Amino acid sequence: MTFTPLQELAQSLVNCERCKLAKLGRSQVVFGVGNPHASIMFVGEAPGSNEDLKGEPFVGAAGKLLNDLLASAGLSRDQIYIANVIKCRPPNNRDPEPDEVETCKPFLLQQIKLIQPQLVCTLGNWATQTLLERKVGITKVKAQAFYMKDFVLFPLLHPAAALHQGNLLPTLKEDFKKLKEFLDKNTTPAEPTSSSPTPAAPVLNIESPQPSQMDLFG
Ligand code: URA
Repeated sequence: MTFTPLQELAQSLVNCERCKLAKLGRSQVVFGVGNPHASIMFVGEAPGSNEDLKGEPFVGAAGKLLNDLLASAGLSRDQIYIANVIKCRPPNNRDPEPDEVETCKPFLLQQIKLIQPQLVCTLGNWATQTLLERKVGITKVKAQAFYMKDFVLFPLLHPAAALHQGNLLPTLKEDFKKLKEFLDKNTTPAEPTSSSPTPAAPVLNIESPQPSQMDLFG
């Protein structure tokens, strides 16, 4: 049996002990899930208890909300790929610590390199700051396209934030509308194929940024 490079990467991390999370109660490494040829990838922070048990990102309450939000943008989980910045559950769902992010970040970057998404939607501060490589608050940058070297980054609030603070839910829904507008503007409908085992990913056709969009940090 031959493995794809993405499967090989996942396999290489199954027994990962590179950081202290390996010994702090994780039950398994949560690598990522979805279409390995996805043009759109979503990146969260870290697995919670449901994800740790199931071995799949976003399967708990935040995941259910994410599914609804994806549907509102015309997307399904089968079309996209979902991963987290760190692949192991931090104890008591605490925030990831800098050494954990530094240790795990290369594997997120390898996932992105192998999947080659054109659009990466980061959910919350951790994923956004990790991929933008800037300590900038999510509320300042959310729901806008940032043209990175290899993909467009589209930060969004983390669904769990809206579960904890109900008043953020309308904003999150509004931001997914903006994502849908961005997709509608930049998507060619995928041709249905009978041979592909996974649902066709939307074909994005993202144009180069306007000069004003390249200077959002002032
Ligand atoms: N929150 C995350 O950031 N990732 C998950 O997988 C689940 C909840």
